[in-house]
Amino acid sequence: MLLTISTTHQPASDLGYLLHKHPDRVQVFEQSFGTATVFYPEVSHERCTAALLLEIDSLQLARSRKKNAPDFSLSQYVNDRPYAASSLLAVAMARVFSTARSGTCKGRQELADSAIPLEITLPVLPARGGVDLVRRLFEPLGWTVDAEPVVLDERFPEWGESRYVCLRLIGTVRLADALNQLHVLLPALDESKHYWQGSDEVDKLMRSGAGWLAQHPESEQITRRYLGRQGRLTRDALARLAELGDEAEDALDPADEAVTSTAPQRIPLNKQRHEAVLVAVEEVGATSVIDLGCGSGALLEKLVKLSGLRRIAGCDVSIRSLQIAGRRLYIDRMTERQAERVQLFQAALTYEDARFAGYDAAVLMEVIEHVELSRLPALERVVFGAARPRTVLVTTPNREYNKLYEGMTGMRHPDHRFEWDRAEFARWADEVCSRYGYRVEHRGIGDIDDALGSPTQFGIFTRTDNDAATTKEDAQ
Ligand code: SAH
Repeated sequence: MLLTISTTHQPASDLGYLLHKHPDRVQVFEQSFGTATVFYPEVSHERCTAALLLEIDSLQLARSRKKNAPDFSLSQYVNDRPYAASSLLAVAMARVFSTARSGTCKGRQELADSAIPLEITLPVLPARGGVDLVRRLFEPLGWTVDAEPVVLDERFPEWGESRYVCLRLIGTVRLADALNQLHVLLPALDESKHYWQGSDEVDKLMRSGAGWLAQHPESEQITRRYLGRQGRLTRDALARLAELGDEAEDALDPADEAVTSTAPQRIPLNKQRHEAVLVAVEEVGATSVIDLGCGSGALLEKLVKLSGLRRIAGCDVSIRSLQIAGRRLYIDRMTERQAERVQLFQAALTYEDARFAGYDAAVLMEVIEHVELSRLPALERVVFGAARPRTVLVTTPNREYNKLYEGMTGMRHPDHRFEWDRAEFARWADEVCSRYGYRVEHRGIGDIDDALGSPTQFGIFTRTDNDAATTKEDAQ
């Protein structure tokens, strides 16, 4: 089975740098289930193609199965694995191009960070769900999809189509994103996932899905298929995707929930977080709010419905998130008056910006843990020192609670720089309060575990110069 990746970005031979594989060499990588070979069938200034050829050894594959795999049938030896771009190809690709997938490239970092013209072909892709599903999976990621069903036998057209498609993807995409998308979507399309789910499978999905899966309209279906319908892992993965601010967990299959049918219906954590923040916004009587690090605007969508708010703003460093937020809020269809009430802008929270000031309340919902610890004091200065809203609402994960997420080995999201336990968050909050003249009230969000607390920590910071007591500010 074969995967080819071509670019017309010039000089096209830079593809060799991006993939960390020299265009002049043929390189062989032994896998437990066969041999992966990387070579370049075409290299010119204008166009360059890298090919990954995976030859499956059916005997080796059968032997490499874990002893407890209960399959003594002939299908262990006679199957489509050698001929189809299955989850095995995804695994080999992930290993062979692991550095490229991480998006780092010595000497060509700018190129690794850029979207470049790419064409990817998979001549025989097992596609459970057919061409239609292939389109629904790849098109939202910006690919033009050219997918033709493969006929069962050219000599007997009346036999009809097979469940395989010949796929060509064309798009302008960052190479690392393209590889990570394939790493998730090939197994999702494959009917028979070859390997047993390890406990780190959800972590792997989160890593490869970072930056695109949570926003994908089919994220729930992709997750379920990638994890091979393992109810519990799927539930964890969907909960973690919902953590990222999307609504994936809404779509939980009732069949999965049946396992815990005696438990009360759970409200997804991100919804509970929105609710807690909205309640606090109303409690403190804010009439203007800024959502700092608003992501794709799920909270903003709810804030705009609060009639007590005269002005609402959202900002983020990510243009892509802001575009999604803009669509969600129908920014381009707003009347002039509506547009005066709601604003979106790009900004980094570690640099002072006059646009952050002038709001009664600022929200930092699941944002601080995305900032390097060494840069956190800069954010504190910008928000608590310079913008100085009367109220700052901060939510962040409670690391202690992670023990209750089955199969989680790392942090809740690959982009998290840290996750704090309750004592660490309280210490940070106290320091911020004493440095900038705030007081804090702690609340938890989500189910409470007696020993571990709740999944989300919530700090409500209030500027003390509103208090009757004399403060440093008053003295100035
Ligand atoms: N508040 C949203 C998004 C949380 S994800 C929610 O709860 O759903 C964290 C967000 O913070 C991302 O959108 C990311 O782009 C943004 N972010 C991270 N570091 C930032 C920085 N230094 N300045 C501005 N935004 C930042």
